[in-house]
This record gives sequence, C-alpha cells and structure tokens, in this order.
Amino acid sequence: MRLGLICSISSRLRLGRGWPVLWLLPFPRSLRRCGRSTLHSRRSLLGLSQEPTCSYKLARGYFMYQHLSAAASPAGRSRIAVLTLSRYTWPPLTGSHSQQHQMNASVDQYQGCILGLALGDAIGAPFEGGLIERSLWKLIGRVRDHSPRWTDDTQMSLDVANVLLRYREIDQDRLAEVFAGSYAWSRGYGPGTARQLKLIKSGVHWREARIRIFKDGSFGNGAAMRSAPVSLFFYNDFERLVAETKKAAEITHSHPLAIQGALAISIAVHFALQSRDCPEMWRLLQEHCASPVFLRKIGLARGWIDSKSEIARGAVAKVLGNGMTAQDSVVTAIYAATRFMGSSFGEMMGFIISLGGDVDTIGAMAGAIWGAANGSVTLENLPIEEKDRLKRVAIDLYRKRLAPCFI
Ligand SMILES: [Mg+2]
Repeated sequence: MRLGLICSISSRLRLGRGWPVLWLLPFPRSLRRCGRSTLHSRRSLLGLSQEPTCSYKLARGYFMYQHLSAAASPAGRSRIAVLTLSRYTWPPLTGSHSQQHQMNASVDQYQGCILGLALGDAIGAPFEGGLIERSLWKLIGRVRDHSPRWTDDTQMSLDVANVLLRYREIDQDRLAEVFAGSYAWSRGYGPGTARQLKLIKSGVHWREARIRIFKDGSFGNGAAMRSAPVSLFFYNDFERLVAETKKAAEITHSHPLAIQGALAISIAVHFALQSRDCPEMWRLLQEHCASPVFLRKIGLARGWIDSKSEIARGAVAKVLGNGMTAQDSVVTAIYAATRFMGSSFGEMMGFIISLGGDVDTIGAMAGAIWGAANGSVTLENLPIEEKDRLKRVAIDLYRKRLAPCFI
C-alpha cells in the first residue's frame, strides 16, 4: 500500500475538528513524495519522532502527523507505521501579512541571505577594533585558499540554522550545546559571550551561565547578528518567526534591547525576502522594537530613507550608532541595507566600513538583508571561506522551511 493511496482516502473523509484518526499502513523506505503529500524529513518520519514534522495537505486544509511510531518489518523493505492524524490549524498571520505575500521567496534569495551575511562579516572583520585586533586579523583572517575567513557572526548563524534543520524549532538546550561546541577564540567572539560559552561547555546550564556573566542580561548585538536563519526558516509564519527569534536570542542575550535587536533583523530579512514596500516593515519594526531608543532611531532611519537623503557617514555613525550594543548597530545595519538595496554589495560594504566601529557585525546584519532582497548572483564570484557549505545550508533552509498556510 502506498502512502499516496492513504492521502487520497483521507482527502475524502470529512474529519471534525480534533477527531483523531488512527492509520496502520506499510510504506516503502524510499518513498519521499507521493500524491499531494510532502514528507519533509524521511529520517524523522522513520525515526520515532514525537514532533509534528510532516505536513500533509488534504482537501480541507493541512493535517499534521502529531504522533508517529515505526518499526522495521522482518522483510526489511518496508516498515509498519502507526500514524495518528488530527486536525491542525496553522496560527493566523498577524497584521496585514496577507497570504499572497508569503509565497514568493526563491532559493536564490535564501543563498543570497546566507552568503551576504558571511561576506559582510568576513569583509568587515579586518576593519573592526583597534590596532591589535586588526593586526591579529591580518594573521588569521584568511583560510588556506586565501579566502576571507568569517567570524562568530557567521558561526553562530550556522549553529542556529543547524538546530532549526535538525529540530524544526529553536530547542534552547540543544542550541546552547551547539553554541558551546562551536566556540573557538579565533572566531572573534565578544568577551561576554565567550565567557558564557566556556561556562556552558564546562557543564553550567545556559540559564545559570548568562546570569553569572550578565545579571540583567546582555544587550550586545550578538543575538541580532544570528537571527537571519530564523527568519528564513519561519518565513511563512510570522508569529513563529517572532517567538523563535526570541528563543534563539535569550540563550546568551536576554536583555530586552538585545531581543528587540534580534527581532528587528528577523523582520528586516522577512521583508527583504518579499521585496515589499518599506512602510509595512517600518511599522512592524516600531511595533516589535518599542523601547525609546529603538523607536527614535527607527523613526530617524525611516525619515532618511523616505526623503531619499544621502546622509553623511559621520552623521549616520553618530546618530544611529556603530557600536557593539544592539541599540547602537541594528538600526544602522537596516538603514545601510535599505539605502543600498538597489546598489551593489560592494558599495554597501564600502559605506559600512567607512562608519567604523563594529564593522563585521553591522556588515553581517546588513549583508543578510541585502542578500535576501537581491539574491546570490552578484555574490557568487566573491571569495569566502566554505562557500559550498554556506550555500548548502541556505538550500536546506529553503527546502525544509516551515510549510505555508493554505487554510
Ligand atoms: Mg564577529
């Protein structure tokens, strides 16, 4: 019996809300697609997952596998699975996020986002910090093939992406472990984050570790710099995007300003993927980043963009900021990406480098937004460490992103 047959049987049933239906069915191991269903992860389907990992389109909407158990049959070619299907209604979208705007991002834009993030990070890294930091980066800032080396911004973004691809949500305990496992001083982690990750690596729980280092939570830009993959994965569900961005942030950056900074980058990437008008983006930025400092800077940046004024770099650095805190760098990155959205990546990075300060992180955040809007075509020829890996992660995020809502 093929799973496609089950699909056609199910679609003819009129299931009431909350009615569970128990199926007993064998299916071939190699089956990935059948009928109108898409099995996002064959491994999770066969692997006794308790998570609702597979979406299943029926005539009246979506159903999720909410429970699944499987056992190998003696023949070995097929398995017997017990599926419990029940009605699952996707959360409604908020605001004016109408459905037709949720479906038009391309895999090229996903690759552009991840490549832009890594390139902004790697190109900006040699210009960050004082004389000692710059001299050190001259020594370790290239990999074996002489491509620019990325820093903690890209490493932590890849960590977030890997956890999303594996667990389909931000599992905070797992993400804390992955962050700690990936830590390497040579990636240029901020001192506070480095101390937290060392504590986690030594066995201290992340909730305890963050309090030991920052009593009230860090408001550095370390959460914002890694939030783009969350936006990519939850592109089709804005409420989950907001919730999971907060979860990814608070492991190391639990101060409200850091979380607002992370949300701002997620929202900016979300709109860059849709190539939509800016007014809606600015409105949601103000709604989700409601602290006075963010509101003031978002308002200023919006005014500059709307008036098409070419604000001098000194004024941008002084007014919006170029520092390591979320409130002194996130709006700067969004402003730079928006201002240079129709220009080349190089022009945008030239402007960001001219601002000085935390160049690699502002470059990473702006690069992710710029790449999400413009795609990867013009970024392909730029050398970067582990380009193939970066592109593969972007493709996986595209293929395995949360399924859209059709209800
Ligand atoms: Mg960095």
